[in-house]
Amino acid sequence: MKAVQRPIQRGRKRRALEGEAALRAEVRRWAARIGVRPRRVQIRPMTTKWASCSSAGRIAFSSDLLRKSRSFREFVIVHELLHLLVPNHGKLFKSLLNAHLPGWARFAGGRLVGPCRSGEPFWGPAPSPDGLSP
Ligand SMILES: [Zn+2]
Repeated sequence: MKAVQRPIQRGRKRRALEGEAALRAEVRRWAARIGVRPRRVQIRPMTTKWASCSSAGRIAFSSDLLRKSRSFREFVIVHELLHLLVPNHGKLFKSLLNAHLPGWARFAGGRLVGPCRSGEPFWGPAPSPDGLSP
């Protein structure tokens, strides 16, 4: 039994590593474009979010992203990298997101990319018109 399973597991592992390398390359490309330098990029299983960004500049991406579409992955990558410039989801954050990734809103369909560093979910309850929490 084991002799049969091993090559399959090796294949899975290899594909996972290739996926990770591709994700890291995408992160590097976007970091150069945006002009930021994450201190550390981790790819690991995460149960409740797609990614997180620490105040020290460390970014972690969920390994589930490897199975998502390239455009969704890109959105999560740009979102997290922008947190190195703007820690919240305010007007500046959204305008930078619009500038780098026009059309990002189509990924907003009920999906929660967060809570991020600010601790607030990106698509939580509608914010009050002034952008401040009630
Ligand atoms: Zn965020």
